[in-house]
Amino acid sequence: MIEDNEEHINEYEPVIGLEVHAELSTKTKIYCSCRNVFGGSPNTNVCPICMGLPGTLPSLNKKVVEYAVKAGIAMNCHINNISGHDRKNYFYPDLPKAYQISQWETPICENGYLDIVSDGRIKRIGINRIHIEEDAGKLLHESEKNSLADFNRCGVPLIEIVSEPDMNNSSQAKAYLETIKMILQYIGVSDCKMQEGSIRCDVNVSLRKKGSNKLGTRCELKNVNSFSSAIRGIEYEILRQTKILKSRGNIKQETRRWDDAIGKSIIMRTKENANDYRYFPEPDLKAIVISDYEIEKLKETIPELPNTKIWRYINEYGFSQIDAEIIVESTERAELFDKSVKLDICKPKTICNWILSDIAKIQNETGLAISDMNITADKLCTLISEVEKGNISNTAGKTVLSIIVKSGKDPLDIIKENNMAQNSDRESLRCIVRKVLLENPKSVNDYKNGKEKALGFIVGKCMQKSKGTANPSMLKEIILSEI
Ligand SMILES: [Zn+2]
Repeated sequence: MIEDNEEHINEYEPVIGLEVHAELSTKTKIYCSCRNVFGGSPNTNVCPICMGLPGTLPSLNKKVVEYAVKAGIAMNCHINNISGHDRKNYFYPDLPKAYQISQWETPICENGYLDIVSDGRIKRIGINRIHIEEDAGKLLHESEKNSLADFNRCGVPLIEIVSEPDMNNSSQAKAYLETIKMILQYIGVSDCKMQEGSIRCDVNVSLRKKGSNKLGTRCELKNVNSFSSAIRGIEYEILRQTKILKSRGNIKQETRRWDDAIGKSIIMRTKENANDYRYFPEPDLKAIVISDYEIEKLKETIPELPNTKIWRYINEYGFSQIDAEIIVESTERAELFDKSVKLDICKPKTICNWILSDIAKIQNETGLAISDMNITADKLCTLISEVEKGNISNTAGKTVLSIIVKSGKDPLDIIKENNMAQNSDRESLRCIVRKVLLENPKSVNDYKNGKEKALGFIVGKCMQKSKGTANPSMLKEIILSEI
């Protein structure tokens, strides 16, 4: 079965396009002054405007424009100085107005691209457009027969990021989605909390004969609410369509619902066209106008982006893609790393190891964010260099780190106050070793009779006597010479 699939996959090339919806983290909703917050008791965060009651008029939240433009700049888009609003008409019980205000004719951003790092290489994915729109409410399915409507989410601002069909496998799609998520978090326009549905995607998959430029008929997967289910959905669609083509069938253009629990896509409807939504310009809102000056000002707020950072770490520091990604994935982690490297005290690889092992361990155990850990670049590098110079042992280094986290004290003070400085004084270590050897004749004999374990015991005893301060390699060397 598997061999069969592999043979099919080799014959066809998947073509994947993604539409990502991200909720913007503005304080208020897009066309009214209701708070933009997740959750709350059903229908408590609504007003006549976001409910679309007769006689109300929407007015655009400026922050939404600013955030969308920032996303456009980060994704190398052309920003349109003038863009409009359009009504997308359809009925669904979670949409009280029976239309969604979106952008159809002219989106706020278009013709961009995103460089992703996939399988150790850069791949450029075209961005067709980014437009702003309002979110719909939510249906709560109580039972097979009853559903309740919660309109709290109506009017939450969204951007829809539409890619070109430039991806050819699920790992590129995964890298693309993760890059978008990191970028939106880096530029501070969305929290991208998957569990709260802040970022969702629709997936388009088609197949074509390898080497052909003609696109095949595509199917769209809806209801994909995590990146991992997007990946599973893509892989499922590739196999489903391959089987149809292989048996000389035709792919029908369809919208399918991804059911993650059963791992299958199920037909929802044959694909609607844009015409079916009877788009027309929104008469209640003026055009969105943004000047070149305003765009330039927003450009200045964009930091080094995560995809650029990942590529830089791989190239400049020789990091593996996975290490680079783990550092970059958190803005705080990346900031601590970059600042530490800048001090030019320790090697980037060593700093990376401390952040990914010791600091990450404390984070896992305590649930603390790096900003709550009292650890600055300065303290981290001082600590690392004390260990590197052999002034304190590795184990003592870990203890110092945990004391910094608790107290915020300077590492050098901690070492001094707790007498943690490593003992590298040969004569005093020799004294300790001789005492321990005299006190433990059985272990000495055991070792001489070939029991390697006995040596570990002796080292332990010496370490104990030195209160953990003995330089371990020197200690071992002395024991071997004295035994
Ligand atoms: Zn409202």
